[in-house]
Amino acid sequence: MSNFSYKDIYMEDVRRVLEVNILPEKHCNFDCIFCPIGRSQNKVDTQKSFDKIDSSLAELESKIETGKAELIFINSKGEALVHDKIDDIIDFVKAKGLQVRLLSNGYLLSREEYIEISNKCDEVVGEIKVITEEDFQKVQRPIEGYTLAEYISNMASFNKQYKGKFIFEITIIKGYNDDEKSIEKIKAVIKEISPDEIIVARMEEDRFKKKLGITDERYEEISKALLDDVWKF
Ligand code: SF4
Repeated sequence: MSNFSYKDIYMEDVRRVLEVNILPEKHCNFDCIFCPIGRSQNKVDTQKSFDKIDSSLAELESKIETGKAELIFINSKGEALVHDKIDDIIDFVKAKGLQVRLLSNGYLLSREEYIEISNKCDEVVGEIKVITEEDFQKVQRPIEGYTLAEYISNMASFNKQYKGKFIFEITIIKGYNDDEKSIEKIKAVIKEISPDEIIVARMEEDRFKKKLGITDERYEEISKALLDDVWKF
């Protein structure tokens, strides 16, 4: 039986993308109040074993073949790096000559074992959602001892040595990082991390949108401010 789950294959520019979730249930080192997957029962940042992956890989192979996938996007229920077979999964896809994009919240990207795994991917996505230490603790509820300063420097140090494409996703949240002061701070973070691509996102889920969503107009303004700035680096 397979433990992976999939989204329907879709086109992104000229590539056929297959999104795969490799975790049977949520495993994350954060417990964000707005997590679309729900609560983190046990926060985890070390690797964990799940069932044997042979049947999951066989299913992945068949999805790749039937969908003629060109890019495999590992977008999981939480932090995919904690799956102890992620290395094998990436190797399996790379051996087929396909590209791999890995979504991580980014905190673990400074640890040797995770750097090695992430370096095998053609693209790595890291994220940021709030911009003060207090908000990081309050709304992202990470494992004890984590700090926002370390979070940012972990992604920055990873990207300094990374040869692939680092995509930095910034989620704008009403009341947390949508004011001018926060935007300036985010610009400084972008400069520190120096990503290859920036995605500006916002709260889209209906249950969070009313309280934490920003207007279309503000979203356009902030996106322009952040994306225009990136070309100046
Ligand atoms: S980092 Fe992502 S997966 Fe983890 S708790 Fe936060 S929103 Fe959920």
